[in-house]
Amino acid sequence: MTSEPSSDAAPGTAARALSPATLAVTAGRPPHAPQAPVNPPVVLSSTYVSTGTPAPGDLLYTRNGTETWSAFEDALATLEHAELPALVTGSGMAAIAAALSLVPPGGRVVLPRHSYQMTRALVDDLRTRAGLDVDLVDIAATDATLAAVRGAADGRAADMLWVESPTNPMLEVADLPALVEGARTAGALVVVDNTFATPLGQQPLVLGADVVVHSVTKYLAGHSDVVLGAAVTSDPELRARLHTYRTVHGAVAGPWEVWLALRGLRTLALRVERSQANALELARRLAAHPDVQEVRHPGLPGDPGHERAARLMSGFGSVLGVRPRGGAAGADAVVDAVRLWVPATSLGGVESCLERRRRFSTESPTVPEDLLRLAVGVEDAEDLWADLDQALQQAARTTSD
Ligand SMILES: *Cc1c(COP(=O)(O)O)cnc(C)c1O
Repeated sequence: MTSEPSSDAAPGTAARALSPATLAVTAGRPPHAPQAPVNPPVVLSSTYVSTGTPAPGDLLYTRNGTETWSAFEDALATLEHAELPALVTGSGMAAIAAALSLVPPGGRVVLPRHSYQMTRALVDDLRTRAGLDVDLVDIAATDATLAAVRGAADGRAADMLWVESPTNPMLEVADLPALVEGARTAGALVVVDNTFATPLGQQPLVLGADVVVHSVTKYLAGHSDVVLGAAVTSDPELRARLHTYRTVHGAVAGPWEVWLALRGLRTLALRVERSQANALELARRLAAHPDVQEVRHPGLPGDPGHERAARLMSGFGSVLGVRPRGGAAGADAVVDAVRLWVPATSLGGVESCLERRRRFSTESPTVPEDLLRLAVGVEDAEDLWADLDQALQQAARTTSD
């Protein structure tokens, strides 16, 4: 963090000692000075007055940086325990593209087979265009993943380990500390897509990961009204490369979007707390529902990721994988029958959404055809349950006819 966190804290308290829920409220604010606004202003200007040779950090042209981004970038860096401001980007994919640019041409990246489908699509594109060598792994299988990073099969070590945990949409949980340590020992950069866990659930940079990326679109902004991303690192050289990538590729954020994201970030702890509690309660009930075949959620004691998530994360996340009875047709019938739940892609908003993931041809073929991804929001749990229950019953009736 380059800004003064102590100016955000009450007198006599160290900002580092504040809890994440507090920091989400206090970070990235103007100092407590007489007549200062409580919120940072939105600056609408594409250029700044300047002459001569610009000094490092000078505001010059908004594609390079603007104070409207800085407030959000400082706040996110504080939550991720980064030593340097985050870099906000025009979407999560822009941040992911920037992070993948750290792999040298023809280099190798080890990636979870169930990572976000557009991350896999980008890696596929880089494979054909830039000769990237891609090794898809089960990220929950620590030894096999680290063997792939070391290049056990062909003696060629990976340049980067990409981690998503929990994965989208299969919710596998990685042993993040072991992966970070093993990959760094093998000389690979470690990038963690922390979208699902949020910085409240885990802080990969503290464990030694090199870069964290976010789809800010999801929990951080939290209201399904912006598309935005961010990359965070404590390494000055990596940050400079990511910054250059953002500047020259031009996938930059608009000021209003970043302002909305910072506004959303203020309530992150409240939203995550509520949606996680809802998700756990729904997971338990769904697991006992006669019209449900399988429920995936790290909060369920029988889930393959449970022990690890309980040990390594605070909270189990707000996403569920549900396989209703009746196959893909049964799953589609549930989506057709909901009234309160929104049939839509995406997650991390206040409203609960669901979709059958394999409706996308780009989703991994190892994701079951009948898997519904439930992105649980902050509505009343009983209302969410009543709607799901009626939809499951209706779907069971229509698909058995
Ligand atoms: C949505 C998502 C992304 C992509 O972010 P956009 O903001 O949609 O570009 C990346 N990773 C994960 C885990 C996501 O859920």
